[in-house]
Amino acid sequence: MKIYNTMSKRKEEFVPLEEGKVKMYVCGPTVYNLIHIGNARPMIVFDTVRRYFEYRGYEVNFVSNFTDVDDKIIKKAIEEGVTADEISKRYIAECKKDMDAMNIMPATKNPLATEEICGMVDMIQTLIDKGYAYEKNGTVYYRTRKFKDYGKLSHKNLDDLQSGGRTLLVTGEDEKEDPLDFVLWKPKKEGEPAWESPWSEGRPGWHIECSEMSKKYLGEQIDIHAGGEDLIFPHHENEIAQSEAANGKEFAKYWMHNGFLNIDNRKMSKSLGNFFTVREISEKYDLQVLRFFMLSAHYRSPLNFSADLMEAAKNGLERILTAAENLRFLTSGAADGEMTEQEKAQAEEAQKYVRGFEKAMDDDFNTADAVASVFELVKFINTTADGSSSKAYLDSLYEELSSLTGVLGIIIEKKEEMLDDEIEAMIEKRQAARREKNFALADQIRDELLARGIILEDTREGVKWKKA
Ligand code: AMP
Ligand code: ZN
Repeated sequence: MKIYNTMSKRKEEFVPLEEGKVKMYVCGPTVYNLIHIGNARPMIVFDTVRRYFEYRGYEVNFVSNFTDVDDKIIKKAIEEGVTADEISKRYIAECKKDMDAMNIMPATKNPLATEEICGMVDMIQTLIDKGYAYEKNGTVYYRTRKFKDYGKLSHKNLDDLQSGGRTLLVTGEDEKEDPLDFVLWKPKKEGEPAWESPWSEGRPGWHIECSEMSKKYLGEQIDIHAGGEDLIFPHHENEIAQSEAANGKEFAKYWMHNGFLNIDNRKMSKSLGNFFTVREISEKYDLQVLRFFMLSAHYRSPLNFSADLMEAAKNGLERILTAAENLRFLTSGAADGEMTEQEKAQAEEAQKYVRGFEKAMDDDFNTADAVASVFELVKFINTTADGSSSKAYLDSLYEELSSLTGVLGIIIEKKEEMLDDEIEAMIEKRQAARREKNFALADQIRDELLARGIILEDTREGVKWKKA
């Protein structure tokens, strides 16, 4: 298997630190809002990477954090007049619902930054003891120039950074020894969440969170560290400086970064306001379509979001689901018994699509080509499976299709259809909950229906529903 390593800028053969195991850390979202479909790209991409490793027989330890202390969370809390904790808990729960609907496998562990402060304080202390960090007026800074390899991931040169950095210096940071130094710990401002530390009551900088959580849950050295390409600098560069200085070891062997999801060729982001939330998309499409759309491109390429491409993804997915449905239908009427000689030869022939799929995925997870192999398999199924096929043959095709789509995280099994009566009963239960002002239960029922493909609309004439 080959992986493109941002560090070497080359595709490298994957060699695990420990035979048969993969330790993988993916930087997760900052939780102050519903996630947008740009945030969904790394989730879908690296979940697929994980699934492929598992398909190849690796045991994957997959850790992805939630950044639950941050200026944006605090700002939102102030706006709503609630605690920062309430905001982050709410959006972690919402994010998990979206992830579930995108069929993202639960991580081995989703650490929360606020629950790992002790470890961060220890790591910062180690950096101070080793001369890589210093305290000024309650703030702790990382002494960037002391770390000789600084810039090795982003391929940036310290002197170029220095000249660019000077103008970026913000007030209050003039106490730094060097403009390149970055914050490890900062004292609290009025009304902010804060923790005790030897330097001040305050909170950690963003970069130290991931260094600590990765170490705690995966160890000092990991196989893969991943995230969106905007994280290469400074976030991942700073993580390397912290972890390698503190632990005295190479931090991650492979650095993987996904390209941006764009809209009108500009990065989709909250600050530009040009985003769609995953929730909005779920009102129009089954989120399998979003997943399939993302995987139709190579993960390192920029991907432009458009209604046309979503429609194309929907139609493509439909072709796969129809082939699966057809196989199930044929199987239900097929006679038990062995494959004929001709079927055996055909089953053998179908293996070439599996090989094509694996070849594509082995080449730096080229899902675009892997999807093409799935389409070829679908075509083969449609031309060779019919009413006279044996059950054994149909089963072998179904298994093959299911195993490949399983790597992509696409579910081809039939979703349990909800009966109209059942839906109406749940809507009635939700209305009752609302009358009793039990909004949590009402929301839960709405979400449950949404997860099963039913969208509710509150109108003046009452609640209307439709299938996604
Ligand atoms: P954030 O919540 O901004 O820290 O982002 C969480 C993850 O989503 C990070 O890995 C980002 O790199 C990634 N991300 C944010 N916006 C986009 C986008 N438009 N396209 C692809 N990835 C993105
Ligand atoms: Zn991170």
